[in-house]
Amino acid sequence: MSEIDTLRQWIQESERIVFFGGAGVSTESGIPDFRSADGLYNQKYKFPPETIISHSFYRENPEEFFRFYKDRMIYEDAKPNAAHKALVRLEEQGKLKAIVTQNIDGLHQMAGSKHVLEIHGSIMRNHCEKCHTFYDLDYVVESEGIPRCECGGIVKPDVVLYEEELDDVTVSEALYQIEQADMLIVGGTSLVVYPAAGLIDYYKGNKLVLINLSATQRDDVADLVVKGKIGEILDQVIE
Ligand code: NAD
Repeated sequence: MSEIDTLRQWIQESERIVFFGGAGVSTESGIPDFRSADGLYNQKYKFPPETIISHSFYRENPEEFFRFYKDRMIYEDAKPNAAHKALVRLEEQGKLKAIVTQNIDGLHQMAGSKHVLEIHGSIMRNHCEKCHTFYDLDYVVESEGIPRCECGGIVKPDVVLYEEELDDVTVSEALYQIEQADMLIVGGTSLVVYPAAGLIDYYKGNKLVLINLSATQRDDVADLVVKGKIGEILDQVIE
């Protein structure tokens, strides 16, 4: 049986599927990932991207942080692709119990998915650091330089920067869902960003599928590896 047929059959047999995804899920929507050949990490900046999107850099150089952030991490016109849409169908069928995503782009919710656990936060939510007033994405995009609240505080995106901790409640829920899953589909992620990548180790079943364009560091733990574009693959296997 081909990998695609096995994947289709496992999805049919499963009742508690969890999807764990990363930046590769959104490349077909035109949002670059970090580690592909044309990803952000292979473009040239004054500082490496992992330096710029760290907490200490944000504190010391907010101007430069927001220049990079608005230019390279926000894609306001991006629309959900075939991968996001297939996952909506799987949730509507009652099989998909949760999406655990490292993405910050909000595309799963835009597509219509209901149970999305954003372990690295979202560009859609922003709060004043001083008075905690909420601001939407447009406010940040339309601001000049550093986005400021009316009270004068910096409006910080609810995005987990390097050196920052993940939200406890979101991670606990993600762990619970992964532990309960009878099938775990991992897709579009290089699985090198920790602690996020470590969450897949909490899966206890025997249907761990990795769908990725390139090999990942964790291919050896998978029960099935499917190489290719995740949008095309999920569209084929989810009715
Ligand atoms: P990564 O860039 O490290 O890895 C992406 C992986 O996806 C690569 O292995 C690549 O081969 C694969 N890939 C790319 N396009 C694909 C496709 N169409 N189908 C299947 N596989 C594809 O991304 P990561 O592992 O998610 O880690 C990077 C971090 O960057 C995450 O923490 C995330 O928060 C953040 N990030 C988010 C976005 C977003 O929100 N869209 C974009 C870039 C980075």
